[in-house]
Amino acid sequence: MCSVGYGRVSDLENGLEHPLISELTVDTASSVAQFSETIGALRHQFGTAVFEEFEIEIESARKLEAKAQQRRMRAATLAKQITMLQQELEAFEQEATGYERGIQALLGTVVDRVERGYGPAWSPWPVLGFRVWSIKRNGLHGAWVHWRSTHLTATCRNGRLEDVPHDNRTCGPPSCGIYAVKRLPVLLNSYPIEDPSHFAIGLVALSGRVVEHTRAYRALHARVVALGAVVGRRMILTSDPQRLHEIFADVDAASIGFPDVTANAGEVDERIKDFLTEQERIHTTWTSENNNESSP
Ligand SMILES: [Zn+2]
Repeated sequence: MCSVGYGRVSDLENGLEHPLISELTVDTASSVAQFSETIGALRHQFGTAVFEEFEIEIESARKLEAKAQQRRMRAATLAKQITMLQQELEAFEQEATGYERGIQALLGTVVDRVERGYGPAWSPWPVLGFRVWSIKRNGLHGAWVHWRSTHLTATCRNGRLEDVPHDNRTCGPPSCGIYAVKRLPVLLNSYPIEDPSHFAIGLVALSGRVVEHTRAYRALHARVVALGAVVGRRMILTSDPQRLHEIFADVDAASIGFPDVTANAGEVDERIKDFLTEQERIHTTWTSENNNESSP
């Protein structure tokens, strides 16, 4: 038996003003009245003997009436408690919904701040990186794209134009964007040169949306700012924008102005590495000075 109903009847008797209980009490009272009225009528019609003859039945009826009243009161107690529980349940559900909305709001704030602070972002200043091209008959080729100019803007193979480069989870593999490795030694150790007599290594300035990975970036825009290349017997080392433009337009013609390689291959690699390291230092200084100028 449910424990909530017991021990509360006396409390109820003190508080009969509850609408549900009052109603039940009136019901009970009217059923007692109806009983007494019927007995009274019989008594009036057939005399007091009738009443005395059925004394046992009348007493039983009164006992049943008392039991009925008690059960009704217990039922009323339970009904009242159910109402209170129902109200409590609704209140808890509303509160839980409120707390869950709070979690969603906090989550939104955290995601927003993490994305702004650490994730894909529109970089107001160029981000520097390094990349490799192979030099073919018609020009400089990246892993997937023929670079016809020192400037390149990434597109996505899935056709979506907005927010290139896309998140790893929604695009690729490989994910879209122009790739550049953060550190020159990492690039040289990770990407072996296919043809040591026809290759280029460049310092690129990445801009627009730039996604940062552990060792590399993926960017919307890239601009070549310095290039070290070997074209047959000639070695190119330049950061001159006009020269760079000519190299990407027609590498064979542009290379004529550069000296023949007289040193051995190891020394050429070393000179390209030194040149690009120095260019990175120059451009990093330039970028940080510009950053400082705009700081409040
Ligand atoms: Zn994409």
